[in-house]
Amino acid sequence: MSQYNFTFSEVMTKKTKPYGKDLAFGRYFTDHMFVMEYHHQKGWYDGKIIPHQPLTLDPASMIFHYGQTVFEGLKAYATKDGEIQLFRPEENIARLNRSNERMCIPQIDPDLALAAIKELVRIEKDWIPKQEGTSLYIRPFIIATEPYLGVAPAKQYKFIIILSPVGAYYKEGINPVKIAVETEYIRAIKGGTGEVKTAGNYAGSLIAQQKSAAKGYTQVLWLDALERKYIEEVGSMNVFFKIDGEVITPELNGSILPGVTRKSVIQLLKHWNEPVTERKISIDEVITAHKEGRLEEAFGAGTAAVISPIGELVCEDNKLVINNGKTGETARKLYDTLTGIQYGELPDPFNWINKIDV
Ligand SMILES: *Cc1c(COP(=O)(O)O)cnc(C)c1O
Repeated sequence: MSQYNFTFSEVMTKKTKPYGKDLAFGRYFTDHMFVMEYHHQKGWYDGKIIPHQPLTLDPASMIFHYGQTVFEGLKAYATKDGEIQLFRPEENIARLNRSNERMCIPQIDPDLALAAIKELVRIEKDWIPKQEGTSLYIRPFIIATEPYLGVAPAKQYKFIIILSPVGAYYKEGINPVKIAVETEYIRAIKGGTGEVKTAGNYAGSLIAQQKSAAKGYTQVLWLDALERKYIEEVGSMNVFFKIDGEVITPELNGSILPGVTRKSVIQLLKHWNEPVTERKISIDEVITAHKEGRLEEAFGAGTAAVISPIGELVCEDNKLVINNGKTGETARKLYDTLTGIQYGELPDPFNWINKIDV
């Protein structure tokens, strides 16, 4: 039990766990959820763990009209020794509060948020799938619940955490994907909301994803909104290119989401004394490097897939096949190391792991 003493109402009948099934991402939910209320005169109050259930909200709730909301995404992993561990949850909570600040949502005490995540995961520990590559996805989010149609920051919110058992992102280990450079739509611009996790960013990106999926691509590569020249992200992952032995990732510029995986990749490469640079990188630079045979690898990085190699990158008339469409050695080593640490199979030299007492 945490010092916060969240009340716990246990479900009457537990659901059948989707064992043995293909755990498609985000389709199954556990028995319980965490809910806490905010009222501007009371602050955050009434944190509780209750059965996972539909919400009852006034249709005037501000979330439905002006999208005042933030979310996070992280995972709990079961180790072979039966331990349960989180990967850098403090980073997700710090980012949740940065998202809150941008969206005019009140800050949440980081210790309380971590205690809520840990307590819920502890209660739902039997839901953590055990097969290789599987985990329990944790989705904390906040919604504006005040019934009011004025455009202003709400005075009432709910902080909710739901859990979803998820399968290995790739059934046969990591596999390179095909990516199309998006030249019509943009994802974000400095001064906007691209560097925080808020729903509108994703709603606005669906059309590009839909367009590229219809042409057979997995995701889009986003370019900067002003010049349509510099690379920003791939789908909802950060992106890395290996050119002439140097790993390059776009620098955080006010429109790129600062990923926890991105930060971990940079720290690992530095730890291995491998050249890694955060700077502007244009799509032309990548195309030229490929023409000259210097583009060795490209990959995305994010919590869901960990590392996602790019086997083919298409930009209008240019089709770049990268590393013969195979997973490169840097992508492979990063994937093996990150997942090794997450599942407790490798040492954790950076203290990234936060264990849950079971
Ligand atoms: C969540 C997210 C990422 C990756 O962040 P992680 O903390 O590594 O999961 C990258 N880009 C976007 C747009 C995201 O929403």
